[in-house]
Amino acid sequence: MKNIFEKIIDREIPSDIVYEDDISIAFYDINPQAPTHILIIPKKRITRPELIDKIDEEVVGHLFTVARIIANKLNISKGYRLVMNNGEDAGQSVFHIHLHFLAGRKLSWPPG
Ligand code: AMP
Repeated sequence: MKNIFEKIIDREIPSDIVYEDDISIAFYDINPQAPTHILIIPKKRITRPELIDKIDEEVVGHLFTVARIIANKLNISKGYRLVMNNGEDAGQSVFHIHLHFLAGRKLSWPPG
């Protein structure tokens, strides 16, 4: 069965897509935690960061390249935060890995 992000990839549910290529897709988070909150995901199904395999290194590394492309595209010059949650305590709620791209306000540290 497809997960929610696979349905977005396959255009079965709507999303506001910012970027797409053969390996990845990026779209606005439905519940934004910053003025700009985008999710960058691989098209390949990897359920949790801890299950990223050696053969996935290129795919996962590509997500960071996409973050740079998006920052350039949206003229984000004052910085952005990239976050990937793994498991229950970290707040992972969708089991298809995704890099949160957060920008547009001063972000506090440590995160809550
Ligand atoms: P996480 O809690 O790290 O697993 O992040 C999952 C994120 O997916 C949350 O920030 C949700 O707001 C977001 N999300 C869930 N469903 C959708 C959707 N249909 N479109 C866009 N973002 C979504």
